Amino acid sequence: MTLSAATALAASRRLVVKIGSALLVRDDRPDAAWMLALAEDIAGLRKTGTEVVIVSSGAVALGRGRLGLSRSARLDEKQAAAAAGQSLLMQAWDAALRPHGVTPAQILLTRDDTEQRHRWLNARATLEALLRLGAAPVVNENDTVATEEIRYGDNDRLAARTAQLARADLLILLSDVDGLYDADPRTVAGATHLPLVEALTPQIMAMAGDANPVAGVGTGGMRTKLEAARIARTAGCATVIASGLVERPLSAIAAGARATLIPAPGGPVAAWKAWIAGSVEPAGRLVVDDGAVAALRAGKSLLPSGVRAVEGRFGKGDSVLIVTTAGRRAGIGLSAWSAEEMTLIQGRQTGEIEALVGYRGPRVAIHRDDMVLETSA
Ligand code: GLU
Repeated sequence: MTLSAATALAASRRLVVKIGSALLVRDDRPDAAWMLALAEDIAGLRKTGTEVVIVSSGAVALGRGRLGLSRSARLDEKQAAAAAGQSLLMQAWDAALRPHGVTPAQILLTRDDTEQRHRWLNARATLEALLRLGAAPVVNENDTVATEEIRYGDNDRLAARTAQLARADLLILLSDVDGLYDADPRTVAGATHLPLVEALTPQIMAMAGDANPVAGVGTGGMRTKLEAARIARTAGCATVIASGLVERPLSAIAAGARATLIPAPGGPVAAWKAWIAGSVEPAGRLVVDDGAVAALRAGKSLLPSGVRAVEGRFGKGDSVLIVTTAGRRAGIGLSAWSAEEMTLIQGRQTGEIEALVGYRGPRVAIHRDDMVLETSA
């Protein structure tokens, strides 16, 4: 089987599809027919076991239309437009998805949500819960409150961070271009389309040119798409850049429509675990009993009942070493609790946690997905 956008889609278990404003908004209104057709694609994928997270632009464009603002509106007016437009956008998604029995669920993110680890864990837990409940998360930037310092800036980057958060294996960027060319196809006749880009080399990045707006409505250009692909790739997530200018763009990709695939080696779980194992300075240590070590080796999460001692100062989401009572290093993981809380719940049963910390938090001390064990402890 040759590697292509179609085969990547067929193999995907969880994907993020990013839809730009230029596709969603026509004459200041949501393009209801196009959204309904896309929703059919999404429902079809879900039936075959592929979970779908939507990253949707369009709030500013829709709100601008409703509030009578021009394209050159000031920043505060754009943020106001996002406030008015986001609810219109969600109404449009509900109208598109509901006939297919799917409930959309709005998630508005700022950069802090994906860069501060305790918020990251919360956002991820919500996303997982929504997918488990069969809803379709619809993510956008929280434009109304995001200031320059905390903005993603464009939804391509937001979509890449969302893919990382969701541990998706595929990111599909739909726009009005059907992939990467070796020159700008709008100006250079005979520009060659690249169906597969295995490495994001400086030459490839140069082919993307500047981050020029596509069709004047969205904010992303080809360069921001490749930057997004780079982020996704480090998270073990492949990227497909494809045209959304057809009625059912996901079916079109599945059927072999022209697109560019940027594959990612390893996959999202391996990338996440490599990041935990390698890129963080442990802030503390959890001493665990032998029963807990055996459970971890059998693929279980670390429960508070197995924790014998808590050392160091760490917050929720910080990395901590897992050590045995004999002082051997058993692994490393992201703590589901702060050091203070962990001290309260160490050695206790899951059912006691809520009374001890005063709220209903996670059941585990470290989730098995968030830990890497030593091979020889
Ligand atoms: N978040 C913006 C909106 O919903 C779009 C930003 C983008 O498309 O890059 O209008």
